Amino acid sequence: MARYTGPVCRLCRREGVKLFLKGDRCYSGKCAIEKRSYAPGQHGQRRSKQSEYGLQLREKQKARRIYGVLEGQFETYFDKAERKKGVTGENLLVLLETRFDNVVYRAGFASSRNQARQFVRHNHFTLNGKKANIPSMELKVGDVIQLKEKSKDSALIKDLADNLGSKNPPAWLELDVDNLSAKIVRMPSKEDIDIPVEEQMIVELYSK
Ligand code: SF4
Repeated sequence: MARYTGPVCRLCRREGVKLFLKGDRCYSGKCAIEKRSYAPGQHGQRRSKQSEYGLQLREKQKARRIYGVLEGQFETYFDKAERKKGVTGENLLVLLETRFDNVVYRAGFASSRNQARQFVRHNHFTLNGKKANIPSMELKVGDVIQLKEKSKDSALIKDLADNLGSKNPPAWLELDVDNLSAKIVRMPSKEDIDIPVEEQMIVELYSK
């Protein structure tokens, strides 16, 4: 699956908010948006009034970038969210939030969603005890992800696993530090999803 491979801090600067794409660096003084809080490029420091369409577009781009989803895939998520019962915008956030890679990240097994995606692709986790390596898999209530025994040999993963106890996973996830696993105990609600995105504006964008 293709993905964005350019400089990620540029994406935060473009959106004007921290998207937390680089793990620990995002919480340090090295964060690019703290040093240069204006859009990248020659005209980045120029202030311009955004149209309604421009604002809606930015919300969509933010959501896409936070979860590392490409345009076409995002549209597929939106179509699916629209077909589900309930509020489309919230359905969209829940679909993104319950991706396999995001669950790995939220449980604290990875310091960023990018890293979580890589861990999943490289077969470091099982899903319900079985092999699973597709980051976009949609997880549901009762699903359990677990770090593979042999993956603890990796220094990077071991370090993250050793610090799991200090993580604060969201209420919809139950973390088992001893077994290095996490279970989805309920679907996340909008209140659980702390991303700086106004999902209603994305709905408005696609409704045009
Ligand atoms: Fe964004 Fe993190 Fe880079 Fe800061 S360090 S600009 S939050 S990706």
